[in-house]
Amino acid sequence: MSTINGTGTTQTEIKLYNTKTRRKEVFEPIKADDVRMYVCGPTVYDRAHLGNARPVIVFDVLNRLLRHVYGADHVTYVRNFTDVDDRINETAQKRKAAGADGTLEELIAERADETIDWYHQDMDALGALRPDYEPRATAFIGQMIAMIEGLIASGHAYAAEGHALFAVESYKEYGALSGRSVDDMIAGARVEVAPYKRNPMDFVLWKPSPDDLPGWESPWGRGRPGWHIECSAMAHELLGESFDIHGGGNDLQFPHHENEIAQSKCAGHGFANVWMHNEMLQVEGKKMSKSLGNFFTVRDLLEQGVPGEVIRFVMLSTHYRKPMDWTEKKRAEAEGELEKWALFTKDAVAAVDVPAGVVEALANDLNTMGAITELRRLSKAGAYSELLAGLSFLGLNLPKISSQDEEIFDDLVEREEVRPLIDALVDRLVKARADKDFVVADGIRDDLLNAGISLSYDSGGDVTITKEANYDRSKLEALK
Ligand code: AMP
Ligand code: ZN
Repeated sequence: MSTINGTGTTQTEIKLYNTKTRRKEVFEPIKADDVRMYVCGPTVYDRAHLGNARPVIVFDVLNRLLRHVYGADHVTYVRNFTDVDDRINETAQKRKAAGADGTLEELIAERADETIDWYHQDMDALGALRPDYEPRATAFIGQMIAMIEGLIASGHAYAAEGHALFAVESYKEYGALSGRSVDDMIAGARVEVAPYKRNPMDFVLWKPSPDDLPGWESPWGRGRPGWHIECSAMAHELLGESFDIHGGGNDLQFPHHENEIAQSKCAGHGFANVWMHNEMLQVEGKKMSKSLGNFFTVRDLLEQGVPGEVIRFVMLSTHYRKPMDWTEKKRAEAEGELEKWALFTKDAVAAVDVPAGVVEALANDLNTMGAITELRRLSKAGAYSELLAGLSFLGLNLPKISSQDEEIFDDLVEREEVRPLIDALVDRLVKARADKDFVVADGIRDDLLNAGISLSYDSGGDVTITKEANYDRSKLEALK
C-alpha cells in the first residue's frame, strides 16, 4: 500500500504491531527525515547464543525497510552494549587470579572488548548491518547519574544506604506496557525485598560497588548503575527526548522495558512511540537452556559449517511475533533452497529495484515469510534478477556454487529435482561406511552406478559425484 507524501512521491505505508497499544498501527515517524530506533543489545560477558541472534536479525530487517522507505540518511539505529555486569567481572577476576597482566579494570575492559569483537564477527556473518551507534554503558555513566539526580529532585526516586531507587508508586502508569498492576507484579515477580526499599517493587537505579570491584563516584557513594537506567540514558543522549521505535526480546518487556518507561517518562521525556518485541527462540520444540544440553552459540553453528545465510533464512521463515523453533530439518531445507537459488541466479545480475511484493510483505508488520513466498514465486517465474534483488534486500547472500554441480546437471530443473535424491543416497552411504556397514554402503554404490552415477572419495572424506554416459534418470528415481 502506498501514500503520497508532501513531496509528491509515493511512499510505502508501513504497519507495525505496537506492544503498547496491542494493535497493528500505521507507522508515522515523528520526523520522516529523522526516523529513530533503539534496540536493547547484549550484555557482553560471553559469545551470543542463537536466541540472541533473533532480535538482531528481526530489527536488521526493520532497519533495512526503514532505510528503503525513508532514505538511508534519514534513519538512526542505536543498539547498546551492556558492559557493566557481574559475569564480566567474574571472568576478569578469574584471569587475574590465574596471573593475567593488568589491573582488574583493564581485565574487565579486555573481556568486554573481546566479547564485542566476537559479537561483531558473528552478527556480520548473519548478514546484519551494524547499527549507526553501538554505545557502551560505561561511556555514559555521567548521563545516568544526571538522570538519577533529576528523578530524586522531582520525587520519583530516593537515596537509601548507598543505593538510589525508583519509587514505582510515583508513576501511575507503571505496568501499562505489559498490562499489569503493581499488585499483580508483586505477586508474580521475583522481587528483591530489601530493608532500604519503600515498596518491594522499587527498583535499583544505582547501587554500591563492593571494595574489590570497580565503581564510579556518585552523590550516593562509590557504585555502579542499575541495568535499566543505562538504556534510558543512552537512548536520550543519542536519540533525544522522543523517538520512534524501541525494540527487544519479549523477555525484556517486564521488568526492563516497564522500568525504562517509568524512568524516562518521569524524567519528562516522551520516550518511544512504538514498542516492538520478538518472541523467543526454541530448539527442537524446547526452551534453549544449558541444563537441557541444547544450548549453542552462533559461533558453534558457524563452526559446524552452517553458513550464516542459512541461519538467517531459517530465522526469517517464522514471523517475529511467533515463537520460533530451530530444527535440523529447517536447517537442511534452508540450505537446499539457498543452494538451488544460487544455481539459478549464477548468471543473473540483480535488478536495481527491490521487488514490490517483498517490500509490501515486510511493510505489513515484517511479514518475512510473505517476503520469502514472493522470492519463491519469482524463482518459479524465472525472474532471477528480481530474485537476486529480493534476496539482497533481505540481507541473504547466496552460497558459492561449485563448478562440479553445474557440470553434472546443466539442466537446472533436473538438478533441482534429482540432486536431493542423490545427496540423500550419498549421505546414507557415507553413514553406512562410517558405521562399518559395508554391505549397505556397497549396495548403495552399486545402485547408483547402475543408474549412471559414480562416486569417488578423497582422503578428506569428500565425495565427488560424476554423471556417467549410462545415466538414466528413471533408474535413479526408482531408488527413492
Ligand atoms: P541479553 O544479552 O540476555 O540481555 O539478551 C540480548 C537480546 O537477546 C535481548 O533483546 C533478548 O530479549 C534477546 N534474547 C535472549 N534470549 C532469547 C531467545 N531465546 N530468543 C529470542 N531472543 C532472545
Ligand atoms: Zn534496554
